[in-house]
Amino acid sequence: MERMNVTLLIPVVLGWIAGLFINYVSDVLPITRRFSQPACTRCQNPFSWKDYLLLRSCQNCGKARSLRTWLVQIFTTVAFVYFWLFPSERLGIPLTMIVLIYFSIITVIDLEHRLILHPTSLVGAVLGLIVGTFIYSKKYTLLGSLGQSLLGGVIGFGIMYLLYQLGTLVARYRARRMQAAGQPDDEEEALGGGDVYLAGVLGLLLGPAIVSALAYGILLGGLVSIIFILALLVRRRYSSDALMTFIPYGPYFILGAFYLLFFLN
Ligand SMILES: [Zn+2]
Repeated sequence: MERMNVTLLIPVVLGWIAGLFINYVSDVLPITRRFSQPACTRCQNPFSWKDYLLLRSCQNCGKARSLRTWLVQIFTTVAFVYFWLFPSERLGIPLTMIVLIYFSIITVIDLEHRLILHPTSLVGAVLGLIVGTFIYSKKYTLLGSLGQSLLGGVIGFGIMYLLYQLGTLVARYRARRMQAAGQPDDEEEALGGGDVYLAGVLGLLLGPAIVSALAYGILLGGLVSIIFILALLVRRRYSSDALMTFIPYGPYFILGAFYLLFFLN
């Protein structure tokens, strides 16, 4: 018992460091598109690395670090301890931690910027191919498991590509109607193009099981949207525009994949 408590320090420390990394990438990548020096979101004054990593407030304007920064630190640390104690049988501890970091970065950036960046999708594709092949290698030959991973990637990308095209058609139809009604086109997109790449990445990770992950994600996203619309109705703020509001499916797909990967052994 005593020894277990001491070894638990390992996932606590690793989780905290992983949280710092997730926060750093989420802070700089959507803004500068490279691994730049982090800066204050209010006054743009660059942080010193020491202040940044110690989660100190901005030395120039005094702005405290965002709530998200703290939530990510806590979530990552708790998640690392949990998966340290109850690792996913299919992935093992190291791959679990890496996938967890990747999923967190995509989710934070998508929630804050409604963006899925191409460089993160590219990194995800490499990671997905490695993880997907690893998962299937217990049942298939190396080439066979590589094939399962690739098949999943093609299925995930293909399904979302078709849905995306369908969404574009609807958006075009709506734009024409709005123009006819004399309203300016607001260029609302029902489904982001980044979701198509994300579905491909998750497909590489999961293999053909990606179909279930997408189904979970779409169901969950739809359910949350219905609750959101009901809440608007109750507060009498509903307009027909609410129906066309962009749904960031990315986080829901991630949740679906997360469930399949880590809790369904
Ligand atoms: Zn500042």
